[in-house]
Amino acid sequence: MGRVSDRVCLVTGAAQGIGRAISEALLREGAQVCLADINGDKVAEVAQSFAVDHPGRVTSAPVDVTDRAQVQAMIAHTVATFGRLDVKFNNAGVNRPMNFLDVTEENWNFIMGINGLGCMIGMQEAARQMIAQGQGGKIINTASVASRQGFDNVAPYCASKWAVVSLTQSGARDLAKHNITVTGFAPGVVATEMWEQVDQDLMEIGASERPGEAMETFSADILKGRVATPEDITGTTTFLASRDSDYMTGQIVMIDGGMTLV
Ligand code: NAD
Repeated sequence: MGRVSDRVCLVTGAAQGIGRAISEALLREGAQVCLADINGDKVAEVAQSFAVDHPGRVTSAPVDVTDRAQVQAMIAHTVATFGRLDVKFNNAGVNRPMNFLDVTEENWNFIMGINGLGCMIGMQEAARQMIAQGQGGKIINTASVASRQGFDNVAPYCASKWAVVSLTQSGARDLAKHNITVTGFAPGVVATEMWEQVDQDLMEIGASERPGEAMETFSADILKGRVATPEDITGTTTFLASRDSDYMTGQIVMIDGGMTLV
């Protein structure tokens, strides 16, 4: 028996990085998993590759998490494939650094739309499905160290990740009566494609001078002495999806190697 055997899980932002690793870890522990991403072709390829070791327990769906109809279709696909939805990860997220004084409405709306509104819609639609099933469930949101401190050059990203904390708390309070828990986890610096892009963007806006410099500066105070891999995150995410975390709700777990002590 795995830690999440027979649980039906849905993970957004699963084509790469943290979402992909979350999905693979859930599969290793016995779950049935729908991987969803705005990059439908890539997430379908990832799902197919996982199906080799986990036949019959993997599917995928294209989704833009800011589009409610697409989110509903993704959940309907999961339920049609596996019969129900037990655990929903709202993990899709974006960053696009800009110097504080240069931040535009377009930059704000893009980031807040996916990281904030996308999380809200994802929580609502997952909860509606779980309420209809009548057996509770778990909603797990991806926050960040940027949910705990404001950093320059990424102000809308920080605001959006503070929003994820607020949504986690509000959702926990509202959904407790349906036996739905809402938790989150907050990575620090994780070596994914997102950071490669952030590194490049920070050079373009003059905030760093050479590749890798921004990541080195940002991660200099990590007590564990290194940045995370996506696999450093998945022990905790599988715990949050499992029955072992049933008495937790409204909480954000920091998984940042000791970068932010709050
Ligand atoms: P990533 O860029 O490697 O992967 C993000 C995935 O989300 C991509 O596959 C992308 O296609 C997908 N996506 C983007 N917009 C979408 C949309 N509108 N609808 C559906 N899917 C969409 O990023 P990652 O590093 O794996 O980050 C995953 C989550 O972890 C994000 O919420 C991010 O903010 C958070 N996070 C990352 C770090 C880090 O250091 N990498 C640190 C803290 C928090």
